[in-house]
Amino acid sequence: MAQIDKTKPVLVTGANGYVASWLVKRLLEEGITVHAAVRNPGDEKKIEHLKKAAANAKGTIHFFKADLLTPGSYKEAMQGCELVFHTASPFTLDVKDPQKELIEPAVKGTENVLNTAKEVPAVKRIVVTSSCAAIYSDAIDSVNAPGGQLTEAVWNTTASLDHHPYSYSKTLAEKKAWEIAESQSQWDLVTINPSLVLGPALNAQNTTSESMNILKMLGGCKMKMGAPKMGMGVVDVRDVAEAHFRAGYTPQAHGRYITSGHNTDMLEMGTVLLPKYGDKFPLPKKALPKWLLMIIGPMTNATFTREFIRNNVNVPFRADNSKIKNELGIKFRPLKETMEDSFQVLIDEGILKGK
Ligand code: NAP
Repeated sequence: MAQIDKTKPVLVTGANGYVASWLVKRLLEEGITVHAAVRNPGDEKKIEHLKKAAANAKGTIHFFKADLLTPGSYKEAMQGCELVFHTASPFTLDVKDPQKELIEPAVKGTENVLNTAKEVPAVKRIVVTSSCAAIYSDAIDSVNAPGGQLTEAVWNTTASLDHHPYSYSKTLAEKKAWEIAESQSQWDLVTINPSLVLGPALNAQNTTSESMNILKMLGGCKMKMGAPKMGMGVVDVRDVAEAHFRAGYTPQAHGRYITSGHNTDMLEMGTVLLPKYGDKFPLPKKALPKWLLMIIGPMTNATFTREFIRNNVNVPFRADNSKIKNELGIKFRPLKETMEDSFQVLIDEGILKGK
């Protein structure tokens, strides 16, 4: 149980990321001093939204240069911090060398940050941004889980370098985090395990998160004939930020927290947008038949293999989000609000253009 002093600074790794930016904003609004670790503090377009958030809030932000693959590079940023939020990790599905591009930064980065925390006596708690990807790979895994739904007790046993390498990177990284946590008694570890994070981006033009690509795919032409009814969980980025905040400052917070607002599917994510945006955007209106996807899917997208289609299309995703609701009091926004707010930012920024 860690009681964190709000007058002490907190470290956020990967502070400019899609998810972390909302967390930084939340911390600054609370009046907290944020040590923001980023790869390149000189790259204004990647951090100006954080400077703006600080200018409008009670808290203060200080930028530090650090890289997941450079041992010890988070040490300076961690000085005086009782609380560390470790969010940095690549989230991309388009990789040529998954070992180098995903696994190494995820796992070595976790080792780097958590081992450094063992050398900084101020640190009392570390909140790691893990993922539901550390719990499952395909929707079928949720159907096959005990009780027919994913819980915090479930670990991803199906991902590998060849099968969902991003999920594999998150699984190995979270396992490494628990291993390091158990090797010491100075600080405790809490993990936040979000499903697919959507919602407005604070820096839409420069966000590399895969979440943006999924939104662009829904609003572009690719799904005008229909969308696969592919089971997945969705959570609002603002709720994920709040989950991190409460995981950090609630002394009793412990273990893993599934952070997923809705058990949904790709088709529903598109159809909730129809009332507001259906006239101007080629949004999906109906489900693409599984038999058709089995034929054309593998030709349209390298990740859309027959195995992937078999294990995800027309397969429901079910995750139990009761632990975070009961223990941290998280209330999830409606899916429609998340989808509309995400979409509107992409329109306002000129990233999505109508039909
Ligand atoms: P994002 O916007 O791409 O953020 C990733 C962050 O990691 C960026 O700040 C990036 O820095 C940093 N990073 C990547 N490689 C690094 C390296 N070698 N050294 C230092 N920093 C590095 O993606 P996101 O969606 O916000 O993801 C943030 C976290 O949430 C990740 O741990 C991800 O696995 C987790 N997550 C995301 C989702 C989702 O749906 N978005 C769901 C579950 C969990 P640069 O900007 O310099 O590249």
